[in-house]
Amino acid sequence: MVKNISTNPSLPDFVQSLPKTETHLHLEGALPFELLQRVRPEFKQPPASWAHNFKFRDFGHFEKELLDMAFSWFTSPERYHEAAKLIFAKHVAQNVKYVETSFASGGIEFLGLNGREVLAAIRAAVPAGLGVRVFFGIHHNGAGGKMQAVLDEALTWNELAGVDLHGFEDAPVEAWTAPYWQAARRAGKYTKAHAGEFMGADFVRRILDELEPQRIEHGTRSVEDAGVVAEIKRRGIALDMCPISNHKLMPGISLGNHPIRRLLDAGVKVTVSTDDPICFGNTVTDEYVALAERAGFSRKELVQLARNGFEVALMSAAQKKPWLDQLDAALR
Ligand SMILES: [Zn+2]
Repeated sequence: MVKNISTNPSLPDFVQSLPKTETHLHLEGALPFELLQRVRPEFKQPPASWAHNFKFRDFGHFEKELLDMAFSWFTSPERYHEAAKLIFAKHVAQNVKYVETSFASGGIEFLGLNGREVLAAIRAAVPAGLGVRVFFGIHHNGAGGKMQAVLDEALTWNELAGVDLHGFEDAPVEAWTAPYWQAARRAGKYTKAHAGEFMGADFVRRILDELEPQRIEHGTRSVEDAGVVAEIKRRGIALDMCPISNHKLMPGISLGNHPIRRLLDAGVKVTVSTDDPICFGNTVTDEYVALAERAGFSRKELVQLARNGFEVALMSAAQKKPWLDQLDAALR
């Protein structure tokens, strides 16, 4: 496996020293490799997609690999609990202080899991000292059959922080979606949506107009339209970006030309996360190191990225203060 080993030995230490957040993480996509090996012993080595310059052919190629691995493990609330414990422990070890993670509605739709039980199992795995907010990830056609009732019920789950639109971006955005995103906000839930990973800036604009999400996941192709970038800034919306994921998955995008540079320079609030580490072999620390080494980010800019994560975090000002103070001290 080829990892993003730093040529500057002090850089990983510097990144480690920063309190950090992870605000774009699919829980199923974060399946620890050691758990996958327990149920799929044929995985003697990590998948080829962990190699640094691996490129998926398209989203379908990626999703096939992801589902094959993830749904070998995530077959019960107990399995969610065991994985979440290990995932969160890895965050703590990297000096990550706050995590937003989603679990996929597909587990309910296709495996018959109970969403409330899955949510409770994830929440029960949260260690002391780590702030965690759990989101319900719903794909574009995720309201079919029994799922409409599940979606309605999900808005009554107290431990659910919010909802996130997932899956194939080019699948139609169905008529139920915008009213549901509104209902979620009325129920006190925070709303996100994936946009601008495969579809262009026009799709980001459409999602902004129709769903009015409070955060965009990726938003990478927003950069193609200055008007969309301006609108994101006007609304004060952050983009939860995943550079290594985009490097391996987005046509024409690499760490060297990643739009996070232009978006940061344009004054957009961007954060950094791993997306689906079982497919990419990445950690939060790897993302920062890769931006420094392959995209020319200064240490000051790395601190700004970490700071952005806490600024958007769904925590009280008092909860954020120690981490923001530490980051401000790192800037000095
Ligand atoms: Zn994602």
